[in-house]
Amino acid sequence: AVILGGGRIIKHKIHALLKLGVSLTIAVSSDRLLSRMLDDEAAAMLQRRLAEAGVRILPRTDATRVVARDGRVRAVITAAGEELPADLVMLAKGIRPDIELARAGGVATERGVLVDEYLRTSRPEVFAAGDCAEAPDMLVPGKRSIPGTWFEAVAQGEIAGANMVDASRPSPGAFKMNVMDILGIAVASMGLIEPPDSEGRGVVRARDGNYRKLVISRDRIVGAVLIGDVSEAGAIAMLIRRGLTLSDLKPLDLSKPIGYADLTLRQPSVFGIRTD
Ligand SMILES: Cc1cc2nc3c(=O)[nH]c(=O)nc-3n(C[C@H](O)[C@H](O)[C@H](O)COP(=O)(O)OP(=O)(O)OC[C@H]3O[C@@H](n4cnc5c(N)ncnc54)[C@H](O)[C@@H]3O)c2cc1C
Repeated sequence: AVILGGGRIIKHKIHALLKLGVSLTIAVSSDRLLSRMLDDEAAAMLQRRLAEAGVRILPRTDATRVVARDGRVRAVITAAGEELPADLVMLAKGIRPDIELARAGGVATERGVLVDEYLRTSRPEVFAAGDCAEAPDMLVPGKRSIPGTWFEAVAQGEIAGANMVDASRPSPGAFKMNVMDILGIAVASMGLIEPPDSEGRGVVRARDGNYRKLVISRDRIVGAVLIGDVSEAGAIAMLIRRGLTLSDLKPLDLSKPIGYADLTLRQPSVFGIRTD
């Protein structure tokens, strides 16, 4: 089988196909699998593990044609002219919102349906949430994004619903987070996978088959990539979502896994009001 694309949903496909004993090639346009979730080093680690399991990965490979004969798929032809034998072709190229209905209704769209922090579209009586909505990003001012996850779709849906009945509840901004298991390898990615500018930095540790990278910018953790041990994913996500700076917290040893207990404020607060 050939999978075209290295997006998030490959996790389901790889597992199912290898379980059936199908030989598997994954052709991705980008230079690595899960390119929106994993940086180079993390992707290389995951790809090595998949190669050991017998998966052939072809980076920087675009398909131009699928060849069918006698009513059956036979091969995929790449832009470089290579023929990849296949009796099954699957797509994992990410999401593309269907925005035709919104556009026809005069609602402003770009990649998705454009919404403000209240999930309101350019037409004040129309709201959008979830995979179709391109919403202000939580971490990059001025940017909009489509996280494409259940959690975010549900959170946005609740806020859009409340605002449709006039709650005036702002959204904290779109936040991308994925935690998955690929052939028994735990993978977690959230927020930014690279520093947004030269002010940012990454704290990276790769050891014993585990990979951990924290992305830090202007005294905040703004993203993380974890492979193997992902036990700190929840605490890091909470830290990012709450918008806390590292200076807000009691001194944190970033070389150690972050736990919920580490999210203790330097200045204790009661219901958000500082007691100092
Ligand atoms: C294979 C796969 C695996 C995934 N795995 C995960 C995962 O592990 N974790 C995760 O967080 N996310 C995962 N996702 C993403 C997740 O499914 C989506 O982010 C989430 O479903 C988005 O919810 P939504 O309500 O915005 O859109 P959808 O769930 O797509 O719902 C949209 C609904 O609107 C309906 N609709 C569309 N157009 C019209 C119309 N004109 N009129 C009426 N109805 C219409 C559709 O039929 C559909 O029922 C996965 C997605 C796929 C495809």
